[in-house]
Amino acid sequence: MRCQLCLNLSWQPLCKDCLATILVPQTHKRVLENGLIVYSFYKYSEIKELLHTKHTYQGAKLFALLAKTALLPFVREFTCKDIFGLPIDDHVRHGYSHTAILAHEIRSHIIPLYGVLRAKNHARYSGQKLHVRAMQKRDFVLTCKRDIQVILIDDIVTTGATLQEANATCKRHGVHVAFALTLADAKEF
Ligand SMILES: [Zn+2]
Repeated sequence: MRCQLCLNLSWQPLCKDCLATILVPQTHKRVLENGLIVYSFYKYSEIKELLHTKHTYQGAKLFALLAKTALLPFVREFTCKDIFGLPIDDHVRHGYSHTAILAHEIRSHIIPLYGVLRAKNHARYSGQKLHVRAMQKRDFVLTCKRDIQVILIDDIVTTGATLQEANATCKRHGVHVAFALTLADAKEF
């Protein structure tokens, strides 16, 4: 196959050279209006094309590789026990869910809770302009047990509206959100 970034031949959807250069993660911390801290590792503009693969056959492998490269080293440093990973709206589309894949790749450190934070509003977000999809409410339903601590997991933070809505849903449900993890931040920094 070819590397999805440089198009050179590669055994993986991302080649070793790209992983060792452009894709070296840089931890970026952003605090949303409601106080929720979001850690991300790439600028959206850097991995935009990669994130767009999320509903394709290549996407599953690629998201797993990005999670291993960026999220795993971060959660390894995190020593809090009994914390759960909550992928945002991990319903399966085209055979997999990209947020569930991200949660799955860090399961050695953060226990994933699959399929418990679902959006009732299933408008197609992918392909829409970022500011348009940030405006849309997801109407989350949360079905996990109460009194637990979680980390929200998503591929990208744009305005932060989705994560804040998810955080509010958790709060109402008696679930404490420690922080959120995303691969990319759409806000240029
Ligand atoms: Zn490459």
